[in-house]
Formats: sequence, structure tokens, C-alpha cells
Amino acid sequence: MRFGFTVFIILSASISGCFGDDEIFGEKRGIPGGLALACLQDDRFDSMELHFLYEQGYDPIAMNLAKNRLEEVCDKPGGISIRAKEVEFDNGNVWSADDVREARWDVGDDAMDSNTLHWYFLFPEGTYTDNSVLGVAVDASTVAVFKDSVEESEGFFGRPSGEEVERAVTIHEMGHLLGLVNLVYQSPIDHEDSEHPGHSNNEDSVMYWAIESTSIGNFISGEIPDEFDADDKSDLVGMASGDLDCSNQLWS
Ligand SMILES: [Zn+2]
Repeated sequence: MRFGFTVFIILSASISGCFGDDEIFGEKRGIPGGLALACLQDDRFDSMELHFLYEQGYDPIAMNLAKNRLEEVCDKPGGISIRAKEVEFDNGNVWSADDVREARWDVGDDAMDSNTLHWYFLFPEGTYTDNSVLGVAVDASTVAVFKDSVEESEGFFGRPSGEEVERAVTIHEMGHLLGLVNLVYQSPIDHEDSEHPGHSNNEDSVMYWAIESTSIGNFISGEIPDEFDADDKSDLVGMASGDLDCSNQLWS
């Protein structure tokens, strides 16, 4: 996600320099983590919808897992539901962070709608501009997973398998929408990797830095994790309770 995130910061800085606000596009889109509290707390959004937009032949396999992982950490008394839809993005085969944002806001709708929060997961044909990137988080409510690259990352003898990697990447990018690691708060625990900002240094966490790269199999020897570790969860609990201050929140 770091590529998409970096590009967005530059873009957002230049926009705010010229226009003062990213609201010129309509709803504020924010940065990854900008709707973390909206998910973790129930103050404004009582329910949530996860939208999976995929091209033909790119069906996501981790929709229920994503829902389960969010249910473990988010306060949504009205429930979390899945909306899956086959779409045609019409983008060509190479995706930039801007392309992902554009496609999502073209095909999808607002993130904040009355009391329901909407997050979008795109599964397009093709690869990211850097084709070693398996997934990106590009704003407060949008991620993409590049299944063509996920397949490339499958190891010899099927270890790790493409399915295993896709599950991990899907949850990893969603973790960035939750603000992990240190995107919109500062953890009291030292678990951010010093060489990979925004990522965990624990290879048993789904937020481990190598998870979104095609060389994932070279860096993780055992099982590929698809869950947040105790430190990630402790951060999320601290954010939800207000013990950890959160910046850049879109609605609070
Ligand atoms: Zn990442």
C-alpha cells in the first residue's frame, strides 16, 4: 500500500494547495485509516456494507473472511453485510493509484451514507504500475487486490498457494483502512517495521510488510497469516476506546 499512499499524499497536498480541500470531488475521500473510527465505533455508523467489485474471472475468495475479521474488531450492532458485483472497469491492464480511486468512485458510491458505512474492494484484471505489488489501499474506503499478481506469487509446489496469498492480501489492505500500523495514530507498542512504514515487523501478523509483495514466499517461511496479531488488536482496541488519539478522521 505504501505506493498508493505516497502518491495520494502528494496529490492531496497539491490539491489542498490549490483548492483548499479535497471536497471539490464531492464527498471527502480521505487517507487509508480516515474511516477507522467510523468502523471501530458505532457512534455514527451502526451498520456496514463491504462492496466487492470484480471483473469476470476475478471473483474474490476472502469475502466472508474479511467480514469475520471486521466483526472481531468493529462495533456494528446493525451488522456487516457483503455486496458482491461483477463489473467492467474499462481501465486497461496497468493500474495506478489514481486509476483505482477513479474506478471505485465511478462504479461505486459514497462511503458515508446515513448510518451505514461502505468500504470498497476492487478486484480488477491486470496489475499495479509496479507489478510486484499485490494490493493497495488508496483512500479511506477503497482497496484493490491484483489477482494476476497474486497468482504470480504462488510458490513452487503451490507453497504458498495463490488462495493463501489472496486471503492475506485482502485482510492486509483492509487493515490499512483500519489505520494499521500507525497510519492515523501512534502505537505505544513498538511493532512498526522501521524500514517499512505503516507495516508490522511481526511475520505472524497479516500486517507484516512482505505480505503485499510478489516475493512474499521468500520472506515468510511458515503459514501466511490472515489475522491481526495481538499488537494490532491492542492498537484497534485503544483507538476504539479513545485511549489512542486518531488523526485525519473524516467524520469526527
Ligand atoms: Zn501494506
